[in-house]
Amino acid sequence: MKKYDYLIVGSGLFGSIFAYEANKKGKKCLVIDKRSHIGGNIYTKNIDGIQVHQYGAHIFHTSNKEVWQYINQFAEFNRYTNSPIARYKDELYNMPFNMNTFNKLWGVITPIEAKNKIEKEKKEAGITNPKNLEEQAISLVGKTIYEKLIKGYTEKQWGKKATELPSFIIKRLPVRFTYDNNYFNDIYQGIPIGGYTKIIEKMLEGIDVKLNCNFFDNREELEQLAEKIIFTGPIDEFYNYEFGELEYRSLRFETDILNEENYQGNAVVNYTEYEVPYTRIIEHKHFEYGTQPNTVITKEYPDSWDRSKEPYYPINDERNNKLYEKYKLLASKNPNIIFDGRLGEYKYYDMDKVILKALNCVRNEM
Ligand code: FAD
Ligand code: UDP
Repeated sequence: MKKYDYLIVGSGLFGSIFAYEANKKGKKCLVIDKRSHIGGNIYTKNIDGIQVHQYGAHIFHTSNKEVWQYINQFAEFNRYTNSPIARYKDELYNMPFNMNTFNKLWGVITPIEAKNKIEKEKKEAGITNPKNLEEQAISLVGKTIYEKLIKGYTEKQWGKKATELPSFIIKRLPVRFTYDNNYFNDIYQGIPIGGYTKIIEKMLEGIDVKLNCNFFDNREELEQLAEKIIFTGPIDEFYNYEFGELEYRSLRFETDILNEENYQGNAVVNYTEYEVPYTRIIEHKHFEYGTQPNTVITKEYPDSWDRSKEPYYPINDERNNKLYEKYKLLASKNPNIIFDGRLGEYKYYDMDKVILKALNCVRNEM
């Protein structure tokens, strides 16, 4: 008899939901994380009464009622609606692409005028069947918006030419012919009052958790502790990169506490020109309508990835997806290890998708 039913590698959203649900069903779980805190990338830290999103802005949004009700049992959510401002040199535009953006850019007033303008630019570019992110973007919003608001941001974010990137990335953003600056199309949206860390704390209450514990430093001993492993780290690392490395994109965050009340007047400002080295500045208090005398801002710098850095984004192009399938096939041969979450599955998942995945995983297991 082993001491635990499950060893859960990673205390992010996936691992924590799995642990919470398995614990409720009487299973014994040990959750480990190599970081010094729980929560993975949704971790928030209280600085001067402001919940700081330590690993980039996290806005909860979903159209799935089950997911919304599920997460609401752990926290109350405020009515925050994400409406980033895009800054190109000294011009400011509303995001996502909507009538406010089109009006500022071209002076158009009606949706028909905006559609005609985009159609004209698309025709001039001669794109009928978009094959990459650049072509997809131009066919959605025309060349002017592509050049001012997409090209520079995208190429610094991913470290690749927009012509070498898959088009699905740009399809994440809505294009709307209404005067609506909401970044997401989902029915439910908000920020958990008191921060995301509190949600994870509730999930992990009464469960054994070991922090500063890297699975690979003590692999053999840890594997002996549990019947099964839930692994939410990178799948290629688990197999010692035996088929080669999957590619990731990393980030560097620079956080400052400023002795002023309001730095930029909005939670998220995107810097869309290539020459500015960061992609966005987050002013955390605006997620919660904070009125503190100070403010905390974070600059988000895209970074290349190597094994010494955090893999924040999978790069789901053809080469990497094929390689991932090889690892997945290898993993399917051992039913005692389950790979899931954003890194385990190598998918660009938002939080709501991760919740669904974790709930499905528990259902399949128990
Ligand atoms: P993670 O949070 O990555 O957790 C994995 C955990 O495993 C980490 O804590 C890691 O330390 C640990 N781990 C890895 N390897 C080991 C090891 N060898 N030993 C021990 N522990 C290990 N989603 C939204 O819905 N809305 C947003 O606005 C949003 N914004 C985002 C912004 C950024 C910059 C990023 C990067 C992501 C964003 N997301 C957003 C996505 C969201 O962060 C993920 O969906 C979610 O955090 C994934 O949870 P996870 O448990 O799969 O992974
Ligand atoms: N994007 C852009 N300009 C912006 C914001 C986003 O070109 O001002 C593109 C960019 O390619 C980015 C993608 O849209 O990678 C998805 O944006 P999202 O905000 O969903 O990225 P995430 O929050 O996941 O980093």
